[in-house]
Amino acid sequence: MKKLILSLLASLSVISFPSGAQWYQHTFDTMGTRAHVEFFLDEKHQSTKRADLIIAAIIAEMNRLDEAMSPYKETSELSLLNRQAGLRAVAVSEELFSLLVTAEKISQMSAGAFDITYASIGYQYDYRKKIRPHKGFIAQALPAINYKSIKLNVKDNTVKFDNTDTKIDLGGIAKGYAIESCIKILQSEGIKHALMSAGGDTILLGDRNGRDWLVGIKHPRSEQKNAVHIPLKDEAISTSGDYERYFIEDGTRYHHIINPKTGDSARKVVSVSVIGKDATVVDALSTTAFVKGLKEGMALINSLPEYEAIIIDNQQRLHFSQGLQQ
Ligand code: AMP
Ligand code: MG
Repeated sequence: MKKLILSLLASLSVISFPSGAQWYQHTFDTMGTRAHVEFFLDEKHQSTKRADLIIAAIIAEMNRLDEAMSPYKETSELSLLNRQAGLRAVAVSEELFSLLVTAEKISQMSAGAFDITYASIGYQYDYRKKIRPHKGFIAQALPAINYKSIKLNVKDNTVKFDNTDTKIDLGGIAKGYAIESCIKILQSEGIKHALMSAGGDTILLGDRNGRDWLVGIKHPRSEQKNAVHIPLKDEAISTSGDYERYFIEDGTRYHHIINPKTGDSARKVVSVSVIGKDATVVDALSTTAFVKGLKEGMALINSLPEYEAIIIDNQQRLHFSQGLQQ
């Protein structure tokens, strides 16, 4: 069972209120990780049948996005792109195209620390089987990592890769997008209080029984502990950590966040959490700041007034962005 990066202090059980209002919750596996939804139905709208239908819609939405964006599914739109865009311009859905546009913006903003073409080498890592690419492969494949070789044509929503060896992967941004999409479904049902998470990405809609949600950021080296708790409402928070998918070989940790400049795992820090309203951007920024490390990563977040960060360095010290330093 894959652990949630963020564990919540608040009770996860279904809570009934004297008025009949109720919290509902469900946990399920999707997108190669664990997802969790919790929402509040007031006495007027409360019914188990209704809650079940909402949960079914959330599961369907997560699975739909997994079908479209998984690099492990041969039939996904993303896999099709990886097979064909090196050869010709490929028309993609509006949804995938707009996610590629967001990814491009973050790449530009981060001078390439965030780069979905990391996958040109990234696909050679298998963390469960402890497999990593050889130095020779990395040296030869490194030119295929370059977000600038993704050509996005807004006129017809087509995508072309300039380099035939280029591959992309949306693992650093898709979960943020997916939970945002699920929150929209909950809102369309009139829901005003909810939590939606997938792996290390969480959105808190409204508050929880009149109080902020208390979100725990996992201790990077101690599974049972949290490093810190943050009170939040109406925000998204995303944590990128080197403990999520990794193996250790000869004392070196090989994990799933790759420095696009080297094709090797990024090792300047061990955990980065980013907080802000836009879950897709928050997701991408946590991966970005992880690659950049403490100094540059924090400088980037401090230059963006709408986003905050908590970075845990290699000595397990906590660092807070300017807006969190009270
Ligand atoms: P997160 O847990 O959101 O930080 O995302 C980590 C995931 O992002 C990895 O599993 C990869 O799929 C993807 N990824 C790794 N390195 C990069 C990078 N430099 N730029 C963009 N995506 C990346
Ligand atoms: Mg991320």
